[in-house]
Amino acid sequence: MKLKVNEIFYSIQGESTYAGLPCIFIRLTYCNLRCSWCDSEYTFNNGIDMSINEIIQEIKIYNCNLVEVTGGEPLFQEGCIELLSSLENEGFKILLETGGSLSVKDVPLSVIKVIDFKCPGSGMDKKNLWSIINEINPTDELKFVIKNRSDFEWAELKVVEYNLDKTNIVIFSPVFSELKYEQLAEWVKESKLNIRMQIQMHKHIWSPNLIGV
Ligand code: SF4
Repeated sequence: MKLKVNEIFYSIQGESTYAGLPCIFIRLTYCNLRCSWCDSEYTFNNGIDMSINEIIQEIKIYNCNLVEVTGGEPLFQEGCIELLSSLENEGFKILLETGGSLSVKDVPLSVIKVIDFKCPGSGMDKKNLWSIINEINPTDELKFVIKNRSDFEWAELKVVEYNLDKTNIVIFSPVFSELKYEQLAEWVKESKLNIRMQIQMHKHIWSPNLIGV
């Protein structure tokens, strides 16, 4: 079993409630979506074929127990589930960042899923697979990337429709350089929902366009 791997690097986790923690990133190639504001287009095709054993040997050089499997869309590759199981067997704490369009039912229970449901501003909202709600655990985190006011209102309606803020951490994050942080902060302050705002920390530590950080 080989996976197409776009990059492996050691950095600071920039998103989710794990933000700020040192973390190894395994970024898999390919994505089934094409979000209008995508900041990871370099993942769509580029990568090298690696066995799961080669991936694990490579990440073991870092003195870090936290690993995020991301993309692109990591679940687009069949071998992703086997990779997650192997990481689990090796004792890593695992985060999986996924775009909300593919089932997560086969993801090992110990893996914390960060599910990035797509708002209309992405152009991909019709791809959301809402049945995922029945496949998540209380430790999973749900993210909405907000481009504008209509995205915000749409995301609030989805949170209410599926009771998301009663069961899970819900994060609203602005589209980088499209929606002003202050504006989203005001909307989150005014919201009656149990949602939290987050910005992409790594884009403030390093240059926003730098990859591999
Ligand atoms: S899901 Fe992620 S990688 Fe895929 S197009 Fe959207 S932002 Fe880009």
